[in-house]
Amino acid sequence: MDLRRELLTAEMIDPSGKPARTTIEVRYDPLTGHSSRILPERGLMPASDFDLAAFARETQPNCPFCPERIEALTPRLMPDIHPEGRIVRGEAVLFANLHAYSSHSAVSVYSPRLHYLPLGAITEQLLADNLSAQVAFAQAVMAAEPQSRWASINANHMLPSGSSLFHPHLQGIVDSQPTTFQRLLASVPAERYAAYLDAERRSGERYLAGTGRVHWMASFAPVAPGELRALIPGLSSPAELTGDLVEELAHGLALALGGYADMGFESFNCAVYGAPPGTGGYPLNLRLACRSNLKPYYRSDSTFLERLHWEGAVDLAPESVARVVGERFGTC
Ligand SMILES: [Zn+2]
Repeated sequence: MDLRRELLTAEMIDPSGKPARTTIEVRYDPLTGHSSRILPERGLMPASDFDLAAFARETQPNCPFCPERIEALTPRLMPDIHPEGRIVRGEAVLFANLHAYSSHSAVSVYSPRLHYLPLGAITEQLLADNLSAQVAFAQAVMAAEPQSRWASINANHMLPSGSSLFHPHLQGIVDSQPTTFQRLLASVPAERYAAYLDAERRSGERYLAGTGRVHWMASFAPVAPGELRALIPGLSSPAELTGDLVEELAHGLALALGGYADMGFESFNCAVYGAPPGTGGYPLNLRLACRSNLKPYYRSDSTFLERLHWEGAVDLAPESVARVVGERFGTC
């Protein structure tokens, strides 16, 4: 597979009167064809210097996900989905999303006691329990409503990522309708996924590790800063994630989020894009990306390019991201 890239050059006279040149690399995502701009390092994503712990203390007294209030203030699932109303796995608690985004929307906290959970402290166990709760939710919805075949497990972590509540959580969507990216990714031929994975493994520049059945890499053409991808050949829906595979995925996610912490980031988005269970040749896959750090008057990493052109523009080269996060995966 040809990982396509084009170099663009911008020329200008700088404020001191000297000619100046800037190189921008346009890359094309091998799966969807979306293009992305890799900019020279410009400090667009400064490391966190925000006092997250203090903000946690400020937001805790009214938090609906904390132990004193979670029972009274969060909605329960419909009895035909889960008679107990909430799904509990280890410390994780899953409940219906008060602000639904689909016919079946769920929120799951890593733990009611963990109102403050910096990225470096998210353990494999917390992730495995939370993912297990989301897998159980997807399975329960699909059993009750066979037309709801499109499941995804997602995260808005911290306010810059779109989270309206500070307390860390995952979000699940199970619906009869795919999102735009679920539709796009599900229409990619199986051979293209295989060729992409093969090309990244051979090049090694962005490939982080295979942890067994899950392959991790930095995205060649990221839509967002610090973007990582995981491919899990052999299954197509989160509802098909078995216990040991949940643990393997949680292991990789914990390493990846630890890598983000090493880079000085505290906010991220994640999407595990499910296609209908049993979709032949579709590998369950996820994207994970950093978001700007939380602080007053921060710069959003989502500009006219990302929102209106669907074009990522990042000044963190994917190969640099792979080097830093790769340290966690033990490949460097
Ligand atoms: Zn809380």
